[in-house]
Amino acid sequence: MNDIRYLWTPPAIQSLPVRGSDVRLPINRLFFVGRNYHAHAEEMGIPVDKATSRPFYFTKSPHTLVESGSTVAYPPETADYHHEMELVVAIGAPCFRATEADAAAAIYGYACGLDMTRRDLQLVARKTSKPWDLGKDVEQSSVVSEIVPMVGEVIGKGAIELRVNGEVRQKSDIGMLIWDIREVIADLSRFYHLQPGDLIFTGTPEGVGAVVAGDRIEGSVEGVGSIALDIGPAA
Ligand code: MN
Repeated sequence: MNDIRYLWTPPAIQSLPVRGSDVRLPINRLFFVGRNYHAHAEEMGIPVDKATSRPFYFTKSPHTLVESGSTVAYPPETADYHHEMELVVAIGAPCFRATEADAAAAIYGYACGLDMTRRDLQLVARKTSKPWDLGKDVEQSSVVSEIVPMVGEVIGKGAIELRVNGEVRQKSDIGMLIWDIREVIADLSRFYHLQPGDLIFTGTPEGVGAVVAGDRIEGSVEGVGSIALDIGPAA
């Protein structure tokens, strides 16, 4: 292993602090559930009927990860950079084709997350049947708090909230998820061999909106913790 030589120094492994521990959780992949709260799906103009639809997903590079408490530059090529407050599940055990009953065994813990989004570019992509990457896979757009170890525990309810400059913008409850934690893990594991270090952003409630340079975002999930992000000037 140690005698592999590279042309240049490879990118660092992304990782997050773990509450109550001095070791960090190494990040593998970042998965995101789309439209997983009814009121958010409606504000985006595409209501969800659970009886006739399946959950859908997109991914971001792990190199988009930033830790809570950071200041990030307002990103390029957008005039509509949106906050999306989300509960994040950290996978801690391999999981493939899990039943809903088995899904909990794959959970290592939880975190608060922000799925920051170039909404203008996402909507253009949506309208023109193009991929969402330019809207979603934005540098420094996957913001995550410390990981809270809750091995095998399923969060079924709890307040989720986001404030911008102290004003409440998003307020809902984890109990409002269309596809709950077990269903999301089981469904995603039909498509991927989930691995320790995979993070699943479970979707955002209603109230998404734009931020500008100078704004401070603060969010929380009851029973998990809190997250903060400052938006700096465009770099
Ligand atoms: Mn999202």
